[in-house]
Amino acid sequence: MNIVLLGAPGAGKGTLAGALKDQLGVHHISTGDLIRLEIKGGTAIGLEIKRYVESGGLVPDEVVTRMIEGKIKATVADKKGYMFDGFPRTTAQAKELDRIMQENKIELGFALYMEASMDVVLKRLTGRRVCKACGALYHLTNMPSKKAGICDTCGGDLYQRADDNEETIRKRMSVYNESTRPIIDYYKAQGKLKAINADNGADDVKGALLKILNEKKS
Ligand SMILES: [Zn+2]
Repeated sequence: MNIVLLGAPGAGKGTLAGALKDQLGVHHISTGDLIRLEIKGGTAIGLEIKRYVESGGLVPDEVVTRMIEGKIKATVADKKGYMFDGFPRTTAQAKELDRIMQENKIELGFALYMEASMDVVLKRLTGRRVCKACGALYHLTNMPSKKAGICDTCGGDLYQRADDNEETIRKRMSVYNESTRPIIDYYKAQGKLKAINADNGADDVKGALLKILNEKKS
């Protein structure tokens, strides 16, 4: 099964994919994780991406698409299927994904739109804390560390990312909503859009997706 996850930052795409990738046996294709891996690995495309990131610019559609296409080509033979998280981000990327899938003889099951309200996203993102040393994620109320400000895993200091403040989050949400609406329409027109309420807890969201998958099977 191939699924595209759509939703604003804070809607819980990464959490959902992380919770289900093993259970469903699919590859979790996270644009953010892939970009970090390519940069860390010092690959040709990683160096290219690094230049855009360091100059403060957006990584162009074409480069992101090439990275995703490479990942699919390298893994498509195992027939496990994919859960896309953070891609496509524009209609142009959605069209490219259709082309890549067609060329690799795989098909999109559906796009899952995880609809989250501004209030919930603000609560999730402003409460988020990250370990300086190992990158582990915590949340002040939903997933607090045992000792305030200290990482359970490695004892490192926890901090709040600079872009996890209310003003930046509101901006990111409105940018997301503007750029995503056309993608939602794109998948709706293909009859491939499913929507779920992502304001609920992680278990409810997971249950909602499993229900859709079961309905698809029957
Ligand atoms: Zn840590």
